[in-house]
Parts: sequence; structure tokens; C-alpha cells
Amino acid sequence: YGDHGGAIGYLVGQENRGLEYMFIMMNSARYAVGMQGIAIAERAYQHAVAYAKERVQSRPVDGSINTSAPIVHHPDVKRMLMTMRAYTEGCRAMSSVAAAAYDAAHHHPDADARKQNQAFYEFMVPLVKGYSTEMSLEVASLGVQVHGGMGFIEETGAAQYYRDAKILTIYEGTTAIQANDLVGRKTARDGGQTAKAIAAQIEKTEAELGKSDNPAAAAVLKRLKAARVAFVEVVDFVAGQTKASPNAVFAGSVPYLMLAGNLVAGWQLARSLIIAQDLASRSFDTDFMLAKIATARFYAEHILNKVPGIRDSIVDGAESVTALALDAF
Ligand SMILES: Cc1cc2nc3c(=O)[nH]c(=O)nc-3n(C[C@H](O)[C@H](O)[C@H](O)COP(=O)(O)OP(=O)(O)OC[C@H]3O[C@@H](n4cnc5c(N)ncnc54)[C@H](O)[C@@H]3O)c2cc1C
Repeated sequence: YGDHGGAIGYLVGQENRGLEYMFIMMNSARYAVGMQGIAIAERAYQHAVAYAKERVQSRPVDGSINTSAPIVHHPDVKRMLMTMRAYTEGCRAMSSVAAAAYDAAHHHPDADARKQNQAFYEFMVPLVKGYSTEMSLEVASLGVQVHGGMGFIEETGAAQYYRDAKILTIYEGTTAIQANDLVGRKTARDGGQTAKAIAAQIEKTEAELGKSDNPAAAAVLKRLKAARVAFVEVVDFVAGQTKASPNAVFAGSVPYLMLAGNLVAGWQLARSLIIAQDLASRSFDTDFMLAKIATARFYAEHILNKVPGIRDSIVDGAESVTALALDAF
């Protein structure tokens, strides 16, 4: 390593801009790991669906079949499959929007639009990496659960997805490191401006949902609004307290990352729902559109609805995270 001379260092680019250059590579690598999470989640989902349609066990609770039936008939198995599907579709939509912002940040003809898209993309990178990889673990774990005992042993391959997903929350920076980036560089540094610009865009989607008389749109609107309000409260807490009370803010950094990822994925599914309703009303690929609407509603009612609780953990719960003295551990 040059301890005894003879090593030559070359300056790459301009002096004092190394970290900035490195982040071009890091953002790209982190985005790619988020995509790995989405890919493993999709594979785990497809695997679980195939098994749930094949494995016969117990009669359905509604008496619709008078003998043992494929486990996909059981409401709890459907709940697991819907959770896997909703997480995966939500994260895929979130990552696609981030990729489009990256393109616009480089190729949009308007300089202001390029700047806004760059800020949005940079905010999204820790979400795509952190949230999509944490969700892939949850999805792969549910995939094992759908397989029952067959999931735990190796032959079905379900456990392999679970093990493969675990590295994704570690390499290219652990989830906590993504969260530090979200708190420090992406939220506190600009006083929460980029985060609030995203909240303003979400409000526009809420207004669109409000125009629909479909019960699915109303169900999504209710949860999206509550989640957006909770997000803004957390952004104010993070932007306002990072300097004065760093321990309190960083005690909630990973929950903030999960809250923001949950919200943005839910927001993108809400946008999908609006488009799917329009296309379904014109009989365009109706089955696909109705499935998209049902998935967006499921996400809102079973995943997005957790956001206000996470807000409470962050804003009200910091003290209990740091209360114990080090020698109490
Ligand atoms: C299979 C595999 C492949 C890899 N490939 C590469 C590669 O190709 N190139 C490469 O450069 N590296 C690679 N790595 C290294 C990988 O990027 C690191 O392991 C990872 O970034 C975590 O660092 P660490 O292991 O030092 O954990 P540590 O930094 O020791 O982290 C341990 C724990 O402490 C937490 N922690 C640490 N610092 C903080 C903090 N400031 N705030 C909050 N929490 C914190 C972490 O979140 C984690 O929970 C690879 C690792 C593995 C396992």
C-alpha cells in the first residue's frame, strides 16, 4: 500500500470532488441493488402462487368445496399472496418513477426541470435501495410461509430466495446507512424542501382520486392522505431537530426511510389505480386493470395504513430508543 514508497496516486477529476464523483457510482449501485430486491420478490411471489395452486390441504372455511382444496382457497394464504404482490408492484412502480426522473434529470430540455428531477431522483435512491430490499426480505419470508414445511427445507427453492434477499439490506450500504443519507443529505440539508415538493405532488394525486366515485379510489384516498400528513410531520421533525437533537432524529432514521418508501410506493400504486380505472372503463385489458385496482387498494388498506403508526414511533418514541445506558445492554 505504499508504506515504503513507490506507490503513485493519480488525481481523477477535480480536487476535493471525490466524494461527489463517488456518489454517482454509489447511487447507480444502490439503485441496482434495489432492483435485485424487486426481482427476488417477484420470483418468490411466482413460486408461492404456483405452490398455493398445487398444494391441497383442508376445506375452505366458506364451504364452497366439500373436500380438501388447494391452499390458495384459504383467506390467509390469499392475504400472504396479496401482501407479496402489493409490495412487489409498489416497489417496482416506485423504482420506475425514479428511473424516469434520472432520465429527465439528464435529458429534459428545461434546466429547472432537470434540477427538480435530479433532486427527486437523489431522494428516491435510498428509498429504492432501502425499502425495496427490506420488503424483499418480508416477501421472501412470506414465500417460505406459503410453502409451509416444504418452504423451510431446500428442495422447493423458497428458502433460497429468503437467504439471497438478506445480503441486499447489507451490501452497498446497510439500510441504516441509506437512512443516514435520507436524513442528512436528502432531508435536513435542504430543510425538507425536496420531501415537501414530493408531498405536494402526492396531494395532486389525492385530488385526482377525489374525483372518482369508485369505492377503491375512496379507500386509497383515505390512507394516502393520512400517510402524506404523517410524512410531512416527520419531515418537519427531521429537518428541525437533526442539528439540535441528532440522537432523537437518528433513532428514527430507519423508520423514516421505511415510512417514506411505504408512502411513495403507495402513492405510485394510487396513480396506477387512476389509470387502470380509466382503461378498465374503456374495456382495455380489463382483467389486468381490475387486478391492478385491487392490488392498489390492498396496499392502501394493509400496508400504507401503517404509516401514521411509524410517524408516532419516530416523533414520540425516540426517548425509549436511547433511554438505556450502554452498560444496561
Ligand atoms: C457477500 C458480500 C459481498 C460484498 N461485496 C462488496 C463489494 O463488491 N465491494 C465492496 O466494496 N464491498 C462489498 N461488501 C461489503 C459490504 O458493502 C459491507 O459489508 C457493508 O457495507 C456493511 O459494512 P460492514 O460489513 O463493515 O458493517 P458495519 O459497518 O460494521 O455495520 C454493522 C452494523 O452497524 C450498523 N452501523 C454501522 N455504522 C452505522 C452508522 N453510522 N449509523 C447507524 N448504523 C450503523 C450497520 O447498519 C449494521 O447494522 C460485500 C459484503 C458481502 C457480505
